[in-house]
Amino acid sequence: MEPQPDVNIATTAASHEGPIETDAVIVGAGPVGLFQVFELGLLEIKAHIVDSLAYPGGQCIELYPDKPIYDIPAVPMCTGKELTDNLLKQIEPFGATFHLGQEVTVVEKQDDGRFYVETAKGTRFLARTIFVAGGVGSFQPRTLRVEGLDKFDESQVFYRVKNPAQFAGKNLVIVGGGDSALDWTLNFVQDGPNKAESVILIHRRDGFKASPASVAKMKELCDAYEMQFIVGQVTGFEEADGKLKNVKVTGSDGVTRLVPLDVLLVFFGLSPKLGPIAEWGLNLERKQIVVDTEKFETSTPGIFAVGDVNTYPGKKKLILSGFHEAALAAFAAAPYVFPDKRIHLQYTTTSPKLHKVLGVETPVFD
Ligand SMILES: Cc1cc2nc3c(=O)[nH]c(=O)nc-3n(C[C@H](O)[C@H](O)[C@H](O)COP(=O)(O)OP(=O)(O)OC[C@H]3O[C@@H](n4cnc5c(N)ncnc54)[C@H](O)[C@@H]3O)c2cc1C
Repeated sequence: MEPQPDVNIATTAASHEGPIETDAVIVGAGPVGLFQVFELGLLEIKAHIVDSLAYPGGQCIELYPDKPIYDIPAVPMCTGKELTDNLLKQIEPFGATFHLGQEVTVVEKQDDGRFYVETAKGTRFLARTIFVAGGVGSFQPRTLRVEGLDKFDESQVFYRVKNPAQFAGKNLVIVGGGDSALDWTLNFVQDGPNKAESVILIHRRDGFKASPASVAKMKELCDAYEMQFIVGQVTGFEEADGKLKNVKVTGSDGVTRLVPLDVLLVFFGLSPKLGPIAEWGLNLERKQIVVDTEKFETSTPGIFAVGDVNTYPGKKKLILSGFHEAALAAFAAAPYVFPDKRIHLQYTTTSPKLHKVLGVETPVFD
């Protein structure tokens, strides 16, 4: 199931009359995209931030939420989740709006110098600047490779559960061995509003990546005949009247059995794909965006690229490198947003102006 930040963030649904006009759109809410909000905020540049994942944090949340990170300056140790929560806390004063669960598909330069940005959910923006903080790409569910099965996508085959109630009372086959597969299995087997008619879990081996407590609970439910677990792989399917009727499951014994179902839920994890970023006309090198090291600007003026998604001589894919890039990119973007304003470097320690934007008191020094 989806990780939740411990910090409140302002999110929007995809309903807005006409495009949202903004100073900046940040593509990607990984650690670097989040810190980009902060650096832009200090310069009073308002940002909207979009991520294809349903939650902020990028790789830190998707790949290693509980693992310790030791090389964030002045933070001796924090987990991926703690880093994300702290970044969300740090950017709170700037009130950036999050548009989650939607991939940015279109970025086009307009005649007036602004950029038209559109997401797969139809949210549209007109932005003066763009910050691509897309990391290793947008995370997409790994699909089940069975020829022809994709025609049932979103009708009987699902890779994400958006609305669990739609599966209540159904005969479910769930595939996978990680936390998502086990959490949803338990959710649909146990009494509650989403209880399914029947649940069969299929995993290629009798060993799981999911938490031992969930696995133990699942085995308990199997012993009580509340559900079934099959070791095997889905290798084919049968349909009737245009509907998916059975999946063919090949067991470790080499025997293929038919398993009847209404719905197939597949949880093979997410894999990143550079995806639409490659279509925006930016100079790329080995699937990374080429930037300069003064402004971290791409080959299109007004579009900046920060964090793992960019490349330049000596690039190191580290969070701290991305933070530095975000600071310089923000200063470089300011002339696009405020053409008549001179931007000076100020310290958060001593600048009353920065204290105002941060919403903190200016300390009185003796
Ligand atoms: C196991 C592991 C351990 C690590 N440990 C460390 C460590 O100890 N120290 C360290 O410094 N680094 C570490 N890293 C690397 C670090 O996680 C990355 O450098 C960092 O996450 C990069 O941040 P980012 O914001 O650039 O990109 P990401 O974290 O990859 O975030 C990019 C976000 O952009 C979104 N996105 C992409 N394309 C689109 C689109 N078109 N529309 C909408 N959203 C999009 C993605 O969904 C994603 O959420 C580790 C990495 C891994 C895998």
